[in-house]
Amino acid sequence: MQVLVGATLIDGTGARPVPDSAVVIDGERIINAGARGSAPWPAHAEVIDLSGLTLLPGLIDTHDHLASHGYALTKRWGLDEPASTTHLRTGGVLEATLAMGYTTVRDAGGLDAGFKLAIEEGLASGPRLSLGVKIISPTGGIGDGISPSGHSCWIPPDPALPDSVANGIDQVRAVVRAMVRAGADAIKCATTGGASSRRGHGPRDAAFTRDEMRVLVDEAHALGRKVMCHALGGPGLRLAVEAGADSIEHGCYLSEEPELIAMMAERGTFLTPTLLVYVYHRDSAAPHVRRRARELYARHLESVQMALAAGVKISAGTDAGGHGHPVNARELECLVEAGMSPLQALRAGTGLAAECLGWERELGTVEEGRLADLVAVDGDPLRDIALLQRAERIKLVWKGGRMCVDRRVAREVAVEA
Ligand SMILES: [Zn+2]
Repeated sequence: MQVLVGATLIDGTGARPVPDSAVVIDGERIINAGARGSAPWPAHAEVIDLSGLTLLPGLIDTHDHLASHGYALTKRWGLDEPASTTHLRTGGVLEATLAMGYTTVRDAGGLDAGFKLAIEEGLASGPRLSLGVKIISPTGGIGDGISPSGHSCWIPPDPALPDSVANGIDQVRAVVRAMVRAGADAIKCATTGGASSRRGHGPRDAAFTRDEMRVLVDEAHALGRKVMCHALGGPGLRLAVEAGADSIEHGCYLSEEPELIAMMAERGTFLTPTLLVYVYHRDSAAPHVRRRARELYARHLESVQMALAAGVKISAGTDAGGHGHPVNARELECLVEAGMSPLQALRAGTGLAAECLGWERELGTVEEGRLADLVAVDGDPLRDIALLQRAERIKLVWKGGRMCVDRRVAREVAVEA
């Protein structure tokens, strides 16, 4: 049994901080948390003094691409290095992300279930994973990995990442089932293009019919999976909200559709803005990507503000992959820049993020019964949200009650003569 005492506790529920707290951990779970006097512990417990630090729930990124290391076609098709090298690179990202206090990440496509297995078996270090496996779209959508010349990749398909192109309701149902068979915890789909998609399929261009999307949501829900839908604007955005996607990913042009914002608030549909990826794309080498990202950013900020004001639940996601790793907490600063208070941004990256994943009974808050996923940081993130981006400030990380990062003492580095 461990007791973490003396830290200022921000519990992830949106409540005000509790100074001089005590969090009691038995095995992998929190059994008590609150002000020091209100959370008693047995005499034999190991007491860890966190005075001067701020204790938070483990951070959660609800939209990441952990296995993506760049947008270039040679990277996306795996032509520039052997697969083993790429996998080791991905392993490094997983480890570094956990070390930055991210104890849970939802992968929005590209990471196969083997990484989750390896972490669970202790072969590799990394966050808890919720997997989308691959992005489902029709031909020509963002799940259709075609080159600008119209060629498809000639490398034999990886059975751990099944083909995700689906046309017509029967194929849509079959592809959802194939993703679940491959280990998907969430169903990732796309009803519009994006900033980085091919010319002719931009943020307001639609993919999928109403019937296809209804069947996709229906089948995902029948299999107990939430639907995370990439949708930026135009009729495809409407389609995603109306068909009942559980979260709208990006949602940049939502501000053009106040009626959809009201519908999301009423139904409890999440918005995951991923502001960070558009900051990155504003400097893309591809002119059409650069133009789209610059065009949408002001509207995107407005969309976040309107959604927040309307009571839409917002979760923090970065769309990292080829950028952003492992400084995923930069998204929390973007959310503050968009108008959230630091406390709201922290909740978007903890308690609400867990709810977005459907894991709110297990994770995301520091409360009795939750898994003991915790981060102790040096400083007050409510005064300076950006401190979460600095490794030296992330002093301690626990995942399931196990301390997996300890930066309290600067380590002496042995140098061989
Ligand atoms: Zn994405």
